[in-house]
Amino acid sequence: MDLIKRISGVLIALLILTGCSSDSADEEQNDKLKITSTFSIMTDIVEAIGGDHVEVHNLVPLGTDPHEYDPKPEDIQFLTKSDALFYNGLNLEGENGGWLDKFISSINYDENKVFRATEEVEPMYLASGTKDEEINPHSFIDPNVGIKMAEAVEQALIEIDADNSDYYKKRAEEYISELKDIEAEYRETFENIPDEKRILVASEFAFQYLTEQYDIQEGYIWAIDTEDNGSPQQIKDATEFVKQHNPPVLFVESNVDRRPMEAVSKESGVPIYEKPLYSDEIGNRDSEASTYIEYLRYNLKVLSDGMNR
Ligand SMILES: [Zn+2]
Repeated sequence: MDLIKRISGVLIALLILTGCSSDSADEEQNDKLKITSTFSIMTDIVEAIGGDHVEVHNLVPLGTDPHEYDPKPEDIQFLTKSDALFYNGLNLEGENGGWLDKFISSINYDENKVFRATEEVEPMYLASGTKDEEINPHSFIDPNVGIKMAEAVEQALIEIDADNSDYYKKRAEEYISELKDIEAEYRETFENIPDEKRILVASEFAFQYLTEQYDIQEGYIWAIDTEDNGSPQQIKDATEFVKQHNPPVLFVESNVDRRPMEAVSKESGVPIYEKPLYSDEIGNRDSEASTYIEYLRYNLKVLSDGMNR
């Protein structure tokens, strides 16, 4: 009897031991912070700084407009168990009653776990007028803003997961130093392009943070993707701007209908630069702009090659 008890005791101990070890392996996998992020650029920055300690679920897929989005069942599932939600703000996700606000309140997600990456960014407005005008959401096109977003992500990750703060600090330091190098390249490149060529004409009025930062004149067909995209009046106004400023080329973004810009090109006689700019999103994995860092470098190359025509 005693022997059997002892043997079964050993067996139970073994079972507990093996049970424990497989539990801790599970835990190791689940140890990652679960983070929901609203769109590709935000997601890439969180992954760059969070590294192996984060599992990020991206909401707005590539090729889709981040200004309007319907969350899917898997988004609801992931956000429900997320340790944090990162978003751009500045109206990108249709703030104040927009899709993100509705999504957060629809599942009663804890507001204390919601982090806005542009807290330190001075907003610019679509119509250069009073503060009541609509905020231009596209601040991340400017590398200076990318630096602020990376700093905000670093701070938030440290706040949520203090145990790994050294890890986040080290990765953020490397990442931000690369962004600072890129910012210096932007400054030097645009300083060396003569005034009369330093003109950026694209479809959407998305490049304002960049053009004001580097003293570039900006023309556009529509102010924001959510309004008419290429009405006859918009095309007429854009054509007038182009004729007046005579830029070397026109630019078109990766995620818009090219036809309105083709109409402006035909009317004005100014060609469209052959490579697209990225604005609302990074490119897919096989593209030359598959990370935010690549996106910034790619846009600078397209802009300087185009303007120097
Ligand atoms: Zn946009």
